[in-house]
Amino acid sequence: MTIGSPEPIDPTPLRPGYPPPAQAYLPPAPPCRYCGLPSAAPAQFRAITAFLFFMTIRTMPGPFCRTCGVATFRATTATTLALGWWGFPAFLLNLIFIGTNLNALRTVKRLPAVNALPLGPQLDVGKPLHRRPFAYIALVPLAWILFAIAGLITHAITGRW
Ligand SMILES: [Zn+2]
Repeated sequence: MTIGSPEPIDPTPLRPGYPPPAQAYLPPAPPCRYCGLPSAAPAQFRAITAFLFFMTIRTMPGPFCRTCGVATFRATTATTLALGWWGFPAFLLNLIFIGTNLNALRTVKRLPAVNALPLGPQLDVGKPLHRRPFAYIALVPLAWILFAIAGLITHAITGRW
């Protein structure tokens, strides 16, 4: 090699026998929105509160790490179970949001529990849903639905109300 004439660059990017790259470059996924943990998944949780024809929908967008996702699931779903039934359009949305929240929970639960230190404080997971008395308010409208269905079946069989 002489000074002033650089070595020619090999035009073939991959030499024979050299393994191809395992996978294409993927930019790193954005970290948890709440604590900065790099292991986070895109997800979204919703809480709905309703009274007659009025309702409020609170959307909590991600990405979430596992801990912050579970915490947000529990908080939003407990609110929805307790306060989401008490209006007509909200009643139907409520069922949909419980389903989408469960789906989002499944997404964040696929993440590893902890793989690094979070940059900031993580959300408090609190008690699981079945240990929150507030969430059991949902049993009241569910009991109404069951009574209504039982009433309709009885009417269909006996012809009396
Ligand atoms: Zn987090």
